[in-house]
Amino acid sequence: MKILIADDSSVSRHLLGSMVKKWGYDVVSVSDGTRAWEVLNGSDAPRLAILDWMMPGLTGPQVCESVRAKNSESYTYILLLTGRTQKEDVIEGMTAGADDYVVKPFDQQELRVRLRAGRRIVELQDELLCAREELRQRATHDALTGLKNRACIRQILAERYEEARRSGAPLGLVALDLDRFKLVNDTYGHAAGDALLIAASQSIQNALGPTDVVGRDGGEEFLVVSSRPPDSLAALAESIRGAVAAEPVALGDLQLPVTASLGCASLHPGADLNRLLRAADEALYAAKRNGRNRVETASAGF
Ligand code: GH3
Ligand code: MG
Ligand code: MG
Repeated sequence: MKILIADDSSVSRHLLGSMVKKWGYDVVSVSDGTRAWEVLNGSDAPRLAILDWMMPGLTGPQVCESVRAKNSESYTYILLLTGRTQKEDVIEGMTAGADDYVVKPFDQQELRVRLRAGRRIVELQDELLCAREELRQRATHDALTGLKNRACIRQILAERYEEARRSGAPLGLVALDLDRFKLVNDTYGHAAGDALLIAASQSIQNALGPTDVVGRDGGEEFLVVSSRPPDSLAALAESIRGAVAAEPVALGDLQLPVTASLGCASLHPGADLNRLLRAADEALYAAKRNGRNRVETASAGF
């Protein structure tokens, strides 16, 4: 683990540096408080810091204050090194945001175990962040296909709708449903159906541009939210259709063809979000009625 040592005395800097290096830390050392703050505020910053109290530029407590004011997600554990022993000094240092302090001259073993405690806190905090990220991922993504789930894509749709209402930006919606999908499950089994869903998800994703977002809205139904204007939405839907149908899905010796029907609708001033969803859905069912593996578009004023 990387550790920052900030001390204006080159003797104590080198002494401390070689000591913590021996304990397995990667040392970054600086000789003033301003530089210490720059390092802690930079990218890939050390998560552990030993700061001298008195330094040119910013003092140790001032560096602490700056770090805490930044309120970064990943925690920096700060240990103040001080010649001051008054209770008021300790209170001042801890109030500034230090996690711990060691009084000079310090005992090597004591510093070592205090650093270990700091390291444990940094590691625990990292695990918490990871767990939170994983939960967030699970709450917003579909486990089978890895696409955004229904709640997430509908949330994005609602946000884009508000934005479109405010700014007049275009908002397009493409509803997609795989064709005769039940037949795949019934004939080849659920695992084959799952493989098809994964492959189709990948094809849809690959056909999208940077401002298009797809989510799995339910079973074999997907929603694409797009910022494209009405006259190019059907072209997007058409390229998604082509991408899904392009290759059969290989499953053992089998080559399973897969197609989808798609319905497009673009927001107009007279419509609300429910109306837009309904229009895309109705266009999708028109595509089913008209023979599947095709795109239909809701009339402009739906
Ligand atoms: P259509 O062309 O009219 O859309 O016919 P369809 O068979 O695709 O439509 P239907 O709605 O009757 O069938 C959808 C099927 O999708 C039913 C359900 O068993 C299957 N399904 C839904 N979710 C999953 C899933 O996660 N995995 C698998 N394997 N099948 C699923
Ligand atoms: Mg369906
Ligand atoms: Mg279907």
